[in-house]
Amino acid sequence: MAKSLVIVGGGILGAAHAYAALKKGSTVTLIEKDLQPAEATVRNFGQVVPSGMERGEWFEYGRKSLQLYQEIQDQYELGIRNNGSIYIASTEDEMNVNIELCNYYQSIQYPCQLMSKAEVLAKYPSLKSSYVVGALFFPQEYSAEPETLIHNFHQFLLQKYENYTFIVGKTVVEVEEKNELCTVRTATNEKYSCDEVIVCNGRDFKTLFPSEFNDSDLIVSKLHMFATSPLPQVHLPGNILTGLTIRRYESFECCSSYKQLDPTLVNPRLKENGIHILFKQRVDGSIIIGDSHEYATFDKADQLGFYVNNKINELMLNEAKRIIELPNWEIAQYWVGYYAQCKENPIFRKKVGDKIHIITGIGGKGMTTSLGYAQESISEIL
Ligand SMILES: Cc1cc2nc3c(=O)[nH]c(=O)nc-3n(C[C@H](O)[C@H](O)[C@H](O)COP(=O)(O)OP(=O)(O)OC[C@H]3O[C@@H](n4cnc5c(N)ncnc54)[C@H](O)[C@@H]3O)c2cc1C
Repeated sequence: MAKSLVIVGGGILGAAHAYAALKKGSTVTLIEKDLQPAEATVRNFGQVVPSGMERGEWFEYGRKSLQLYQEIQDQYELGIRNNGSIYIASTEDEMNVNIELCNYYQSIQYPCQLMSKAEVLAKYPSLKSSYVVGALFFPQEYSAEPETLIHNFHQFLLQKYENYTFIVGKTVVEVEEKNELCTVRTATNEKYSCDEVIVCNGRDFKTLFPSEFNDSDLIVSKLHMFATSPLPQVHLPGNILTGLTIRRYESFECCSSYKQLDPTLVNPRLKENGIHILFKQRVDGSIIIGDSHEYATFDKADQLGFYVNNKINELMLNEAKRIIELPNWEIAQYWVGYYAQCKENPIFRKKVGDKIHIITGIGGKGMTTSLGYAQESISEIL
């Protein structure tokens, strides 16, 4: 018989688990504490980039996620755009890593192509000639509008599945398993019974099962981001990733030529602040630019603070200006985002009793891999 599930947390990981379970015929109630999800899932770039993932299962979750985003987009306007991803090399040694990674992806039939400097500048005229050496392009990758994607996702689930309930503005404060049944209680004392509970709590480690995280390697990362005013005259399609990203993402690290990268070519202040520069143009023409990384263990995450650090933004802006030319650099929005990740493991997954599953800490890859990961995760749980 199909099982009933309560999922705590309406970010991408919770929503992806809901979709996978609904497809298997389960009845799903998803409970989100905010009126609209307002955490990492809406504060990100919206880059769906399997090309940046570690080789093996997480790359495959990313590849599967591309299919699943398309599967939904075919039925409902999610706002996914298929403009590809480009990794722009700014030095010869970065380009060598691009070439090696291209050979690898072609050997596993993941479409990609190398682009010469002239081809890159012809396709992306805003890029500065002084920055570009060449690039690696992935034509099949997607970008999303992070602020609307998750709302569209829940609307799709509500429209398609009668057995889906989406409750917002309710914090789950207790989850219990007794006599083969789980009970979930909210802060305002509503109670829900079900067969299994999945807790996708993002970076909230204080509300549910706080002691279950004690022996974990969970950390929280704080990221600085900003966005320009709308620049409809600029054409910057898809996910734009740059030399510092080539030096940062796992897929590149797996290449033997990665070890030949000359670290002295990177401004040490960028490295200290975990900065690499990515661009994503929104539908309204504004351009999201980021990001930086500061870390704290999950139990000290409060110490990351609430300030937007202008020094970090200045460093990022200066590096961005080295890469692209814009008609004006008016910054319309600044924000910070936080995500949980594990130091050693790709995700945090723990069972409490037999029927309660905590799944969080997917790190900086949640928009890329959650859909694919959740299919496998749900098969394991159901
Ligand atoms: C600045 C930034 C840029 C990023 N860029 C990208 C990118 O381009 N591509 C990519 O793949 N990934 C990116 N990421 C990572 C990605 O955003 C995250 O991996 C993903 O959003 C995590 O999803 P989640 O559902 O685990 O967590 P969250 O989005 O944090 O969702 C958790 C939800 O659970 C709710 N919740 C928690 N506790 C309770 C409770 N007790 N009761 C009810 N509700 C509860 C919270 O309110 C929240 O809505 C980025 C992240 C950031 C911060």
